[in-house]
Parts: sequence; C-alpha cells; structure tokens
Amino acid sequence: MTNPSSSALVLFSGGQDSTVCLAWALERFDRVETVGFRYGQRHAVEMEVRPRIRAGMAALNARWKKRLGDDHVLDLPALAAISETALTRDMAIGIADGGLPTTFVPGRNILFLSYAAALGYRRGIADLVGGMCETDYSGYPDCRDTTIKALGRALTLGLDRPVTIHTPLMPFDKAETFDLALEIGGESFLNLVVEETHSCYLGDRGRRHDWGYGCGTCPACELRARGYEKFKADLI
Ligand code: ZN
Repeated sequence: MTNPSSSALVLFSGGQDSTVCLAWALERFDRVETVGFRYGQRHAVEMEVRPRIRAGMAALNARWKKRLGDDHVLDLPALAAISETALTRDMAIGIADGGLPTTFVPGRNILFLSYAAALGYRRGIADLVGGMCETDYSGYPDCRDTTIKALGRALTLGLDRPVTIHTPLMPFDKAETFDLALEIGGESFLNLVVEETHSCYLGDRGRRHDWGYGCGTCPACELRARGYEKFKADLI
C-alpha cells in the first residue's frame, strides 16, 4: 500500500536486514531518508558499504531513485564508552553470563530509535523503519515487538506528535528476509543484498561465500549462511 504524500526515515546500517527494510520503505513512501550510527564499532565496514548499497539500489529502480532522499550519519561515541561488548571491545564473541550474546549492546535500539525520532521530528518525518526481528535475536530484548511498540508510544507522547515505528521483518527469520528481498526487488535486488550488504561481526570482506562476504564462523555469519541455505532450499 503506497501513501503518495508520506515520508519515512529508515535506520540503515548497511546490513542485510536494514537494506531489505529500505527497499520495503521505498515501495511504500514517497520520500525515504536513511540514518546510520557510528558508535565505536570495531570495524567501519558497515559504514563503508552503506553509500554503495544506496547507489546500487538507485541504479536498480528508477522509482526508488526518485524517492531516495538524504542520508544522515550520527556519531554516538557515548554508546561505545558505556558498552562492554564484543562489537566495541577486543573480546571473544559468545554467550555471556545471563544468556545474552556478548554482542548485545544494552538498549542500543532504544537509543537508535530515539535519535531517529528526534531527527525525524526536525525533518518532518513521523514514520521510522527498523530491521528489528525477534525470531533470530530473541535474546535481544530491545528487538522485541513489545519493546518497539512501547517505545513508539513513549516517543509519540514525548514529542507530542505521532511517531510510528515500522518493523517489517519482526516475524521473519533470515531465510524469509532473503525471500522478502526477492519478492520486493527481484533477482537483481537479491544479488545486491548478497554482494554488498554486510553482516560479519569481524568486518571480514576478504572471503566470498554463496551468501556474501564474511569470516564464515562468527554468529552473524552463521545466521546469514544458515538463512541463505534455507532460502535456497525452499526455492527448489
Ligand atoms: Zn563473520
């Protein structure tokens, strides 16, 4: 369903999920802006692939090109300073005491969405789009639907204007996200997602697999590889 006079702000990290969300938004909104965050990630690969993905998507589809608006990058060094995680410090990725992966940055999505809402307020955009999904990352409490819905209500109250947070991937696993990419943008968009989007926690883009670039062994690579295998198997 397209709302021709509407606009959206997509939380765009350069990963598989947020890239599919960007395509989802470009099909639905008249103007789509993107926002990315620098928060002391151990590698800058995601920030490097973001402009390539945006340019690639604009080249794929004339309507997307017309609708794709400004890109914003916000620095959040304070988030790195208060985080003791595998993404921002040189420690092993695994499961910490308490059952959450060490890649978990406490409350990260709450902060990202709050910053996005503030930016959206200044840009006249009330619709935020994020790639949170509770299927693959049920250990991340800030990716859960109940958290996102409560935050949407809090932001609406706090900004005194409606804020809608769209999470089109919420019920999907990685295989279904590849499926959605194919459904929205066809083979050429699926190829762009595989080739250009980045998931690997270690920032490895030296090794190319069927499912894209990555170390192949970190939890993000394993999740992406398993999802791609399942997606391919379901296609046959
Ligand atoms: Zn990896």
